[in-house]
Amino acid sequence: MLFDLHTHSTASDGSLSPRALMARAFEQGVTHLAITDHDTLAAYDDLPAGRPALVPGIELSTSWRRIGVHVVGLNVDITDPGLRAGVQAQQQARHVRAATIAARLVKCAGIDDPLPAVRALAGSAPVGRPHFAQHLVDIGRVRDRRQAFRKFLGDGKAGDVRRHWAPLAAVTAWIRAAGGTAVLAHPAHYGLTMTRLRALLADFCAAGGDALEVVSGRQDAGTTARLAALAGEFGLLASCGSDFHGPAPHALEPGGAAPLPPACRPVWDSWS
Ligand code: MN
Ligand code: MN
Ligand code: MN
Repeated sequence: MLFDLHTHSTASDGSLSPRALMARAFEQGVTHLAITDHDTLAAYDDLPAGRPALVPGIELSTSWRRIGVHVVGLNVDITDPGLRAGVQAQQQARHVRAATIAARLVKCAGIDDPLPAVRALAGSAPVGRPHFAQHLVDIGRVRDRRQAFRKFLGDGKAGDVRRHWAPLAAVTAWIRAAGGTAVLAHPAHYGLTMTRLRALLADFCAAGGDALEVVSGRQDAGTTARLAALAGEFGLLASCGSDFHGPAPHALEPGGAAPLPPACRPVWDSWS
């Protein structure tokens, strides 16, 4: 069995349609795939329901002590009204956030209102910072998306707007009420010291969190070992995923992340 429990499609900021993503993952030998788009379940509208190989999922944005934190919901009932309402609220928050980012960029980057162009770039997907980054590249304001994040959109920059997200306890509650497993995503990506990461995990557990993404994308073995130990310490299940956003020169393929360390208790153990 090969699990990839964190991937993105064109329903958010991935480059493959849900069907193409599913096909690519199965080609790579993935036996259990979760498509976890940012704050939307739209990928599942487009997919055959009830396939055991498909684990219904979502990646929800939240904030903790002014840091943007992501919680993946796995094995959720995508028809659950509470989850649907929560997702609706997140999308509303995303609209407000996009307008705020746009206004800040007009002021700080000295550009014309980017909102119409950014909405066109996003198409039917929710607007996110990568769309703003692409727009800044398109109008020649920056060299590439990396520079866009470094100068305007990354942590602490003008376009880094997070205050509209639902709190940690709200997103875990939506996931659990929908019968799902709440997973703290890519814990090594928040730039936290061990002390702060422990504080986040304590709050995540208190908020009803179930699991830790012990393996996320390409990650060094030392980090994986530390996260596995933390999962054990906090009594959290372990999840793993590539965080695949589409084929790219140095990107992992779906299913390409390292396996979970044997000492971990995998999330899927709690589903059977
Ligand atoms: Mn993304
Ligand atoms: Mn994320
Ligand atoms: Mn992700």
